[in-house]
Amino acid sequence: MIRINENYLKLQSSYLFVEIANRVSTYQKENPDAEIIRLGIGDVTLPLPPACIEAFKAGVKEMASDVTFRGYGPEQGYAFLRETIAFNDYQSRGADIHSDEIFVSDGAKCDTGNIQELFAADIRLAIPDPVYPVYLDTNVMAGRTGDFNHGRYDDILYLESLPENGFVPRLPEAPVDLIYLCFPNNPTGATISKDTLRKWVDFARENKALILYDAAYEAFVRDPTLPRSIFEIEGARDVAIEFKSFSKTAGFTGTRCAYTVVPKRCTAYDGSGQKHSLHALWNRRQSTKFNGVSYPVQKAAEATYSEHGKAQIIEMTDYYLKNAALIRKEMAALGFEFVGGENSPYIWINCNRDAWEFFDLLLKTAGVVTTPGPGFGKCGEGFIRISAFNSYENVEKAMARIRDALGR
Ligand code: PLP
Repeated sequence: MIRINENYLKLQSSYLFVEIANRVSTYQKENPDAEIIRLGIGDVTLPLPPACIEAFKAGVKEMASDVTFRGYGPEQGYAFLRETIAFNDYQSRGADIHSDEIFVSDGAKCDTGNIQELFAADIRLAIPDPVYPVYLDTNVMAGRTGDFNHGRYDDILYLESLPENGFVPRLPEAPVDLIYLCFPNNPTGATISKDTLRKWVDFARENKALILYDAAYEAFVRDPTLPRSIFEIEGARDVAIEFKSFSKTAGFTGTRCAYTVVPKRCTAYDGSGQKHSLHALWNRRQSTKFNGVSYPVQKAAEATYSEHGKAQIIEMTDYYLKNAALIRKEMAALGFEFVGGENSPYIWINCNRDAWEFFDLLLKTAGVVTTPGPGFGKCGEGFIRISAFNSYENVEKAMARIRDALGR
């Protein structure tokens, strides 16, 4: 008898987006003429930068000639892309990362989800709450989380991010083995200072733990004192793996390109306490299960580091940050407390009531779709996430409607 992986039956979270879709569709049926503005999703709206389009086209053209055609590429990514990433995102910012420590992939979602395959089934996990749900769900699938009781999995240490701690979790009181961190955070938009990140790195070193650092939104960081990579922190090379993506940086959500940095010095232990290179294990995993990213897409990603590409990316992220600033201004004027939106495309609003009730209020009175906080964890209760990924005109319109609806 073929049997299923019963861990899948413990999964909870797909409920959120299904429930949002249902509520929006009911509203649309009841109000067929209402124009809905979606500030809920975390998908970009601006097209690829012109520099990427040019490089993409040139890459396709090369594939059309038998002289320049390429078949299977290196699973780790082409050297031209790995080298430019290592130089621009790390070495030029004082972080000692080399091109052979970069693994190009088709998404930070896949990488943050797949990386847990490298670790034992009985490790102790610390996962932020609220956070991007992939970290938790992939560990549920792997059977590491225990059962779900009263809104939480029994075997997870939840790193609570609340107003009391400025939405940056405190260090665990007991040792843990694997720690997920995400800054700028999805969904809160909160950022972490170098000093605080250093404490996490020191904690990992002291506890022989590993940090999985998701920096998918680093391109939105404007404050020069904030870290854009965990490898800006001394000692992180031994205890951290970092995930980055071109999705939000350069509008690649539909084009697909990301990368993971696994430093050669980064190690984990076997049952007898012997050290093993995580770089070697990830390399083995990727070579076995991953085919690499297509050549034209890697050429397009490389173009984000050209002079024009860099300028276009700043223009693009500035556009969303301008939306975020408008959302912050309007929410402040309405008297809401919030975090995020300064070095991040997300604004996390304390709605002072049930999140779903507030979601319904904004949908029904303003036609604006947001994301209720509980979809990202128990600490999201009483919060909604507003995303700056939309046109400025739509954000202006949405804010005007919310102002009218809430009438304060
Ligand atoms: N990490 C975080 C924190 C995200 O919010 C997202 C997407 O929303 C991802 C990773 C996924 O990135 P990618 O499109 O590269 O899979």
